[in-house]
Amino acid sequence: MRDPIPLSEDRIRRYSRNILLREVGGRGQEKLLAARVLLVGAGGLGSPAGLYLAAAGVGTIGVADGDEVELSNLQRQIAHGVPDLGRDKAASLAEALHRLDPEISVPTHPRVEEGRVPFDDYDLILDCSDNFETRYLVNDEAVRRGLPLVSAAVVRFEGQLTTVLPGEGSPCYRCLYPTPPDPECATSCAREGVLGSAAGTMGTLQATEALKVILGVGRPLAGRLLLYDALEPSVRIVGFRRDPFCRTCGEGKAGRGFKEAGGGAEV
Ligand SMILES: [Zn+2]
Repeated sequence: MRDPIPLSEDRIRRYSRNILLREVGGRGQEKLLAARVLLVGAGGLGSPAGLYLAAAGVGTIGVADGDEVELSNLQRQIAHGVPDLGRDKAASLAEALHRLDPEISVPTHPRVEEGRVPFDDYDLILDCSDNFETRYLVNDEAVRRGLPLVSAAVVRFEGQLTTVLPGEGSPCYRCLYPTPPDPECATSCAREGVLGSAAGTMGTLQATEALKVILGVGRPLAGRLLLYDALEPSVRIVGFRRDPFCRTCGEGKAGRGFKEAGGGAEV
């Protein structure tokens, strides 16, 4: 993370509800302004995550997405509207974030698979993608660079969320799921459907995790997987350990296993 950036009078007024929080304060708000977050995906997760990060005062929010806005996106990708149909999705989200705050920086990038996203320009990555290829690629890039990663996924009425802190030795996404599923078997929103508000819940949780990591407050979901079921509704948190044989972060040492955090209690 970069050094905090001093706040203008206008920004102190804008963020007064943040600054009133003892855990944030003026110093925390300055940290948010200096923070550079990369959103991978400008859809159902990236829309709420990006909007909340921009509203919270994160100073740089990069957006990587290669798609165009389609009519079937509007059911859950709430940063986009009818006038955006057919537009570049990253540019559309960038414009929505600038409507909230014209002073923040919102660079746009192509999809990460093209290899042209400057990960090193960022302090933290949010994986808001909708496919396993991107998910593993982003995990590997984050771990290689020691960048914190907040990874979320949603399908049907269910969501998952975990935070990877490579600098602190936490397990990574590949420790959790060592092998990508067969593309033929992998579920996707197009085949399975997804409740838009469930995507909103997960994207919002993702933004909260990112803000906690930037501010250094609370307990990030490192080594823990949050499982949300909108139908019950229920939220469970399951602990998992680093895989010593992980292709991305493994060291070839120690044991491996899963454990329930807090006895697997409902929270
Ligand atoms: Zn790993």
